[in-house]
Amino acid sequence: MYLLTNLEQERAMRIAKDQCLGITQRGNDLKSQPIEGPPLNFSEVTSTFCPTRRRLYISRVLGVPSKTSKSMALGSMEHASASIVFKKVKSAQSCGGEMNHVAEELEAIASCDESATAALWSDNNLDNIEKYCSDAEISYQDTLPEYLAVVKEFLLLEANRLRQKYPLTNTAPAILAIEEYIDGYGLGVNRGKIDCLLRLSDGSIMICDMKRKSWGDNHDGKIQIAGYALAMEKEYHIPVSVGCLVFSSTLPNSGKEPEREIFAINDNYRGEFISMRDKAIQIASGRHLPPIPNNAEWKCKGCDARESCSTIK
Ligand code: SF4
Repeated sequence: MYLLTNLEQERAMRIAKDQCLGITQRGNDLKSQPIEGPPLNFSEVTSTFCPTRRRLYISRVLGVPSKTSKSMALGSMEHASASIVFKKVKSAQSCGGEMNHVAEELEAIASCDESATAALWSDNNLDNIEKYCSDAEISYQDTLPEYLAVVKEFLLLEANRLRQKYPLTNTAPAILAIEEYIDGYGLGVNRGKIDCLLRLSDGSIMICDMKRKSWGDNHDGKIQIAGYALAMEKEYHIPVSVGCLVFSSTLPNSGKEPEREIFAINDNYRGEFISMRDKAIQIASGRHLPPIPNNAEWKCKGCDARESCSTIK
């Protein structure tokens, strides 16, 4: 899922090389300071689910927390599965192990019956699954089979991909980190979790982020990755010029490859992150209540803060 085909890697390296020359807003060299206010999470800065950011005001100023939906709970579960798979791949890469052995391990887990798979998973993250379900107010017992089906599908696809397309060679992208926290404080943002950091064969660093669905031009996701790149550059003084959005919703029961979108983390995305950060901090400080957006009924319909939203003036 996070590994790239040779062609994709070549494309990513070309992007990194071209964009390295043109970027003026590197995290370690930012001129603008964040405005005063509460540090927000990366996703709070970049989410435009509520077009005017009124939902942010409701959660940060009025203290109405966001509810976890079933879809968000499944997304968290997919992240947890990917984390286990790619930690195995990372460890095989770092000790010169065989990718075939990793694939066999994944297939063995996938071939277990439901209770055995659940038991195998319990060491790592079954507690989290219970928490996701309780946050989303859904039954853990009812959801577990659905989750395990997603996990099995995921494991078999990844095992297949490791065998067919991603043999361990010196030129394969190396997994540097999985689910790694990055300190955003220097940027005026809380710490964030990067799904996967890859080092391409020319040494460039690439940030991958998993999303459940592809929405339009996936703009928010790209700005979020730009925020991570700025934070990494600030913290480690290494340029990060290329990002990849990986869409997991193509996985369950489809047998299809996950879609991946590789893109340049250019000055536009960087600038947008900075201005969205300042606007979000301003809203979260209670300096102004954003209006109800026009023509967003379909979003309001699916919004967990609908009741609170209609009562505030
Ligand atoms: S109900 Fe609509 S306007 Fe209100 S917070 Fe939710 S999305 Fe925004």
